[in-house]
Formats: sequence, structure tokens, C-alpha cells
Amino acid sequence: MSLSIISAWKPEHQNRSRPKTAHLDVAEFFCDTIQGENFVGWPAAFLRLQFCTMDCVWCDTNEVWRYGNPYTFDELFKFMDMASLPEKLHKGQHLVLTGGSPLNQQDRLIKFIDAFIHTYGFKPYIEVENECTISPLPAFIKHVDLWNNSPKLDNSGNLRIVRYQPNILMELSKLENSWFKFVISDPLTRNLSPSCCSNRVIDKDIGFIISKWRHGMGRMEKKFSRCACRKLS
Ligand code: SF4
Repeated sequence: MSLSIISAWKPEHQNRSRPKTAHLDVAEFFCDTIQGENFVGWPAAFLRLQFCTMDCVWCDTNEVWRYGNPYTFDELFKFMDMASLPEKLHKGQHLVLTGGSPLNQQDRLIKFIDAFIHTYGFKPYIEVENECTISPLPAFIKHVDLWNNSPKLDNSGNLRIVRYQPNILMELSKLENSWFKFVISDPLTRNLSPSCCSNRVIDKDIGFIISKWRHGMGRMEKKFSRCACRKLS
């Protein structure tokens, strides 16, 4: 069973004033759960950051990331200590930075990870859930062990000009430790090719998450090799 570190909507944490010291805007934080993609079943802690660059029609966490509070690094370390999370991370539990949009706060995340390393003497294995609309900073890239990229298609309801950033997709595609997944709503995935996979913007293995299927909310994950447009067009 997962262990809550910062609960979503926790009443006593509402309306906190913005600290003057280093902090993160956090929506919720929990550990002792398992990763559901790529490292499926691996022990993981999820630090969900507040705010997102997208507003997907099928988002299943928007009621969480819209709310949150600023927590100083010292407060976060205190809560992590109470959950014995540093020890768990040292033993191999992954720290998954999710959102919302983690890269919205990447400059502060760099400092947070540096402060964690300084305090605890090691760097945890860090995964990032990424909607691929913000260019990653080199110092942040250095800290990330796995990029779980999820560019949004037109079925997300977001404007193309906001969701489709080919230069950023190409940049992420070049990272050895990155992979891509898409939420699709049609078995032929015809709507993939024009937006994300044309011109070989993404040229690596792609995992497809099929959700909101016509028979319900069941999920199916399938691996394709190399560029999706070659396999699916
Ligand atoms: S990018 Fe992710 S968190 Fe943001 S609105 Fe879309 S599904 Fe929700």
C-alpha cells in the first residue's frame, strides 16, 4: 500500500504563504507504490508538481495538479525523512517527477536534487514524466535517469501550436535514456502521423498507451520499433 507524504488538497496546507527560500510547488507526494510503465512493477515514489502547460480533455490528474502549495526544500526533506524515503531511494526505489508539468519547475528541481545529494550523499534514480513542450536544461538532463515522454496528439484537445514542439521532440529523441508514448483513441492511430511522427521528428522505439477505448477505460500497451509513421501509415 502506498504511503502518503503530502496529500492532495490537505486542508492544513492550503493558503500557505510563498517562502522566500528555495521551494517547490507540490500538488501531492507519495511513495511505496509501483511504477506502471516501462519499469512496470518497480517500487516508486511520485512527486507530483503543481501546474501544467497542457489541459488535456482526458487528464485524470487535473483535479490534483491544479491545486497545491509551496514547500521549502527543508520541509520536503523533513517529510521524506518521516517516511524513511531517503533510505528507500538508496535501496532502489525510483523518484518519479510528475505533474502537471515537472519541467515548469526544472530550474528549482535542479537545485532540489543538488540539495538532496548534498544532504543525503547520493543521487536517487530519477524518472521524469514529460509532455514535451519545454526544452530541458543541460543541468536537469544530467540529473534525469529516464525520460518518459508523452507528447499530446489532437485527441487531447490542446491547440497544435501549444502541444507540438518538433525541436523539443527531436532534442528529447536524441537522448539515450528517453522513450515515447502516446494516448490514442483510434485503433489505426492515423492521427499520429501528421502531428508527431512525420519528418522523423521522433526516431526511436515508441510505446503506445491506448486508452478511453470504445469498450471502456481499459488500457493496452504495445511496443513498436523505430519510427511510428513507418509502422502505422
Ligand atoms: S499533460 Fe498530463 S498532466 Fe497535463 S493536462 Fe495533459 S494528461 Fe494532464
